[in-house]
Amino acid sequence: MPELPEVETVRRQLAPRVEGRTFERVRVLDERWCMPLSPRAMERALRGRRVESLGRRGKYLVWSLSGDRFLLQHLRMTGNLLYDPAERPPYTRVEIDLDDGHELRYVDVRRFGTGQLADGRGELDAFLDGRLGLEPFDAGFDAEHLRALARGSRAPIKSFLLDQKRIAGVGNIYADEALFRARIHPLRPAGRLTRAQWEALVPAIVSTLQAGIEANGASIDDFRDIDGARGAFQDEFLIHRHEGDPCPQCGGTVRRLVVGGRGTYVCERCQPRPRARRRA
Ligand SMILES: [Zn+2]
Repeated sequence: MPELPEVETVRRQLAPRVEGRTFERVRVLDERWCMPLSPRAMERALRGRRVESLGRRGKYLVWSLSGDRFLLQHLRMTGNLLYDPAERPPYTRVEIDLDDGHELRYVDVRRFGTGQLADGRGELDAFLDGRLGLEPFDAGFDAEHLRALARGSRAPIKSFLLDQKRIAGVGNIYADEALFRARIHPLRPAGRLTRAQWEALVPAIVSTLQAGIEANGASIDDFRDIDGARGAFQDEFLIHRHEGDPCPQCGGTVRRLVVGGRGTYVCERCQPRPRARRRA
């Protein structure tokens, strides 16, 4: 599933090619993409709009269009945006032709990706604020703030990191990698991290996401960049998907656990398991 670095990779590649261009022709081939809006209504709403900018918030691509309209696009599990693909790709859900003759194709095998409209800045902010918490690259993303957010929480820190309403954009891969770098066990209750642990975790999250962006994302399943190329961050995973391998830090064996229903990788020498709390 694309996480923040994968969506940011798409945004960075696409922005210079679409900003200032106009959506000349839009065809929505899958009604599920824009529900509850009908494909025809979505096409009408987008056609003829100029792309003012292409932004990102959490895992959403935010298309700012002329007339103060916004298209919020989420790629979910298997969505890919392709720019000028050589042939018509299978599983094409949306076709957009730009006024400079270039073509955008949205492809999604499993059809969980979405496109939603917001009319005006107020609607956009309400949409995003209702769904997304802190942005890891914002100035307010610091140990103090996260510690306050987690106060009293008994959720495992891994689940806390994956909760988009608290922190936007971190998914399964980057949570494992960040917790390993910060030497924190994924099952440790979020409310019981020490100040020092938060101070280690915040830069670990930021640097892991940064490394993911620099590698053009991770392609462990379907993710492709806009030219159809794979990201390279999967080659740099320290812990994620390394079950049975030696830990790169201590040589111990990497284990796989399930936390909050997600496959989770850990070195329990580097990331000591929290002691069970005696029942009161
Ligand atoms: Zn280790």
